[in-house]
Amino acid sequence: MKLIRLLYYSQATREMSLADMKAILEKARANNHAQDICGMLCYDNNYFLQILEGDAAEVTELFLTIAADERHHSVVIVGVQGIESKVFPQWDMGYAGSSDTLAKLMKEIGCDEFDPEALNFKQAATLLYELSKEQTQV
Ligand code: FAD
Repeated sequence: MKLIRLLYYSQATREMSLADMKAILEKARANNHAQDICGMLCYDNNYFLQILEGDAAEVTELFLTIAADERHHSVVIVGVQGIESKVFPQWDMGYAGSSDTLAKLMKEIGCDEFDPEALNFKQAATLLYELSKEQTQV
């Protein structure tokens, strides 16, 4: 099986409430679990940043479904990488919202707010990995 890690960011169509995020995560966690896909989603400042890890064909198919979702637009793939093993295996889909940690991590790369457009692949993956250590329970 060929494993990949896919990273993208997008802009929310409207401001997402906690209930909106719960609806996305509930569906995502059930679907991802069934397909052995894992990852992490961050939402803040009207941006989504998500990393998906799993079988190459399944991750690609899921990404196409997600990209067509009307809850966001302007979807940009930051990168896709072949991987030996998953970094987020414990999360069907972890979640992080606005937090002091996110603000601190963005400050470290010179940003005053969450702006995935300012991140390269490595910075974005590292940010999500750091956030996964203290993800928000939603
Ligand atoms: P349905 O659930 O039938 O939805 C079809 C369309 O209806 C959606 O594309 C959306 O435009 C709309 N819709 C559905 N529910 C709502 C709602 N509560 N409010 C408003 N509009 C709605 N799915 C995963 O399986 N794994 C993921 O990791 C994942 N990550 C996501 C990340 C983001 C940022 C977003 C926005 C969505 C994510 N989803 C994820 C959801 C995914 O886009 C699909 O909605 C989901 O996979 C169900 O697919 P479906 O074909 O059954 O669509």
